[in-house]
Amino acid sequence: MIRRATGPECEATIAEAAALIREGRLVGFPTETVYGLGADATSDTAVAAVFNAKQRPEFNPLIIHIANEDAARRLVEFNDPAARLAEVFWPGALSLILTRRPDCPVSLLAGAGLDTLALRVPDHEIALALLIAAERPIAAPSANLSGHISPTRVGHVAESLGTAIDLILDGGPCRLGVESTVLDLTGDVPTILRPGGVTREELEDAIGPVRVLSEMNSTPSSPGMQASHYAPGLSLRIGARDVRDGEALLSFGRHDLTGCAAECNLSPTGDLAEAAANLFTMIRALDRPEYSGIAAMTVPDEGLGCAINDRLKRAAAPR
Ligand code: AMP
Ligand code: MG
Repeated sequence: MIRRATGPECEATIAEAAALIREGRLVGFPTETVYGLGADATSDTAVAAVFNAKQRPEFNPLIIHIANEDAARRLVEFNDPAARLAEVFWPGALSLILTRRPDCPVSLLAGAGLDTLALRVPDHEIALALLIAAERPIAAPSANLSGHISPTRVGHVAESLGTAIDLILDGGPCRLGVESTVLDLTGDVPTILRPGGVTREELEDAIGPVRVLSEMNSTPSSPGMQASHYAPGLSLRIGARDVRDGEALLSFGRHDLTGCAAECNLSPTGDLAEAAANLFTMIRALDRPEYSGIAAMTVPDEGLGCAINDRLKRAAAPR
């Protein structure tokens, strides 16, 4: 359902959208860059619904939208360049990658299991009103099917994802129409992982030298997908049909495997969205030195199962 979020009834519409977010439902909303597909960033199941709706073949970390810098400071370790950049560019088209705080309530799935998060304060009245009314961070990738171009008009969102979203807020065409710049502030030198609305020159004017990922590494893989990605400390094997001595079992659906040292079932009923929501939390729960390894059962290679298997393969890769 598309609803205008400007004009006389906009407050009631925003309140309705915020209530949906708090219930774990999906809301399409405008920002100055592109339309976002928003979900409660603190809910694994709401975030799983985002990946499901986008039909992404793997879990990319999502940008977490917050209303202001104070909200960002509650989620991540803010450093000096972050403070300077927030002052100059927020609200605006700049997503900052920073390390999660130990008490960060954001879903591990939203960050694709990384110990970092990309955060942004959008420069758009409707997006900010929604964030304030929802009283929580909103995880929002662009509101399009995976592999399609980003939507800059409400009609694009409806065409691409109409049936998967509970409500789409109409704010007219997006002012910028390009995505935000994604800047990693966790290393020695600030690094642009994705060029976007804020230019390298503008960033350098504010904080000095900035490098661009493609200058260091020309592999086309998405930044979130590189080797630095979270991998368990224990070795993990996939396609397990038995359990070996001392192994912890990451299971899926009903099964008759016995003898594990511990077990987490991604979804006893075989529901892939539930399995996606549990994936990173359960890998972490089983990744303990008292077990000899993690045996992961196979998940059907369809829908969200493709993304789950992609992550399990990466976690199982030799390193
Ligand atoms: P989209 O979901 O279309 O808004 O794109 C989000 C972009 O931000 C993708 O290129 C992600 O790989 C990147 N991203 C988000 N969070 C992180 C993170 N923690 N580390 C690295 N890249 C990130
Ligand atoms: Mg996108």
